[in-house]
Amino acid sequence: MKKIIVVGAGMAGLCSALQARELGAQVTLIEKGATPGGSLAMSGGTVWCAASYADLRRLVPLGDPILGRVLVDGYPSGIDWLQGHGATLTRLDSLPDRTTYLMEPNPRAFVTAMLERFLALGGELRLNSPVERLIRSATGPVAGVEIRTQTGALEQLEADAVILSSGGFQGNRALRAQFFGRWSDRLVLRGSPNNTGDGYLMGTALGAAPSIGMSSFYGHLIPAPPAVVPTHDFIAYTHYHSAQSVLVNVHGERFCDESVGDETSCQYVAREPNALAFVLYDDDVYRNFAVRPAGGGARATDTFHESLALGAPGLKANTLEALCEGLTQFGVYGKGALTTLHEFNQAFANGSAAQLRIPRKATANALLKPPFYALGLTTGITFTLGGLQINENAQVIDRSARVIPGLYAAGADSGGVHNEQYAGGLCLGLVFGRKAAHHAIS
Ligand SMILES: Cc1cc2nc3c(=O)[nH]c(=O)nc-3n(C[C@H](O)[C@H](O)[C@H](O)COP(=O)(O)OP(=O)(O)OC[C@H]3O[C@@H](n4cnc5c(N)ncnc54)[C@H](O)[C@@H]3O)c2cc1C
Repeated sequence: MKKIIVVGAGMAGLCSALQARELGAQVTLIEKGATPGGSLAMSGGTVWCAASYADLRRLVPLGDPILGRVLVDGYPSGIDWLQGHGATLTRLDSLPDRTTYLMEPNPRAFVTAMLERFLALGGELRLNSPVERLIRSATGPVAGVEIRTQTGALEQLEADAVILSSGGFQGNRALRAQFFGRWSDRLVLRGSPNNTGDGYLMGTALGAAPSIGMSSFYGHLIPAPPAVVPTHDFIAYTHYHSAQSVLVNVHGERFCDESVGDETSCQYVAREPNALAFVLYDDDVYRNFAVRPAGGGARATDTFHESLALGAPGLKANTLEALCEGLTQFGVYGKGALTTLHEFNQAFANGSAAQLRIPRKATANALLKPPFYALGLTTGITFTLGGLQINENAQVIDRSARVIPGLYAAGADSGGVHNEQYAGGLCLGLVFGRKAAHHAIS
């Protein structure tokens, strides 16, 4: 019987461990934290993927095309497989270019159900046991791992294959500074604090190649300090509606096409001074987008007033002039912001928003209806889109473009499927976690 070690009990780890055990391997699932679940347990539980390969290429044009094909092809059977193991996944109405299911009643229940299934099939789980090193045999293949046990001792575990699913490097300050630059220290971790790049570091220590997309990540804009967002409530404070708004930096200037989407804009904000931006919108956007009813696993929220209550910088005013004047108290060049808004509104009126210096290609919502709103936001980083280079079997590739035998990566530890833009995080763990398990025991 093949022995497989899975590193990390989040989405990718649970899927690969359960799949490998189901296929007959002896599986040990090793988790750094005291509880399983990782970012999966904090997520909205919306398992979504592009509806077709063409949709994926449009949603994430810079992603790896081969891995993208694997993702889209493996997603429907992955959903069936989860449901076959007792996961309650409800199909949601969504945009025509995506297929979406919701974990019910919530992602924590999903973690519990998948884990119970894994243990019932005879799998082994070790909590509080960070994997610290990969062991490679003299003949080449990866032959096991070294873990730090609960007592602090080091223990070596043998395996025929190791699947890295430790959730990306967003919680590692040094790697963030390396890949995201000057203001990376200001980013707020919008995910599990245990995801500190261990898979990436252990893989690259064996010669693994970094994927494309190392400088990109998935995240969202959240209230800026001094606000501190409660970690169980990130979704309520996520400003998806920056896509319908105008973003300015401390110089009062736009710096990205907001309409591409909040998950892309937040990557630009990460590179602006202090990783700070102000989102500006009018009362129509406030009512239609900034205030959200409960749905899709998320609670109802008034993102503006709740963010102010948390301490985020912001204000409301009846004229654009007063709004921009008020921004100066937060260190923003108010005159610049006013010029930016006048130019934006003028372009909207002329139908020429796509010709602005920073083009606004879609959803150009001018600021017309008072009161007007301004709120300071920063980047919440959820998971890194770059990671270890894998092939279509989720095998890790080295810097000479050769497979590292016995080493796999899935979920946020593997990189390049998405790049700059994003089409689902949980689907990556599902599809590539299962791929890794299938290949590892073949
Ligand atoms: C607030 C929020 C909302 C989200 N909403 C959605 C959504 O609706 N839809 C969607 O598709 N995605 C969503 N995501 C993203 C999604 O949660 C992630 O893409 C997904 O969980 C990544 O899976 P993963 O297995 O790679 O990492 P994780 O699920 O984070 O699992 C990684 C695990 O590895 C463990 N680990 C780390 N290092 C080690 C080590 N050295 N040894 C052992 N264990 C280790 C961690 O403790 C963790 O348990 C959301 C995330 C957040 C935080």
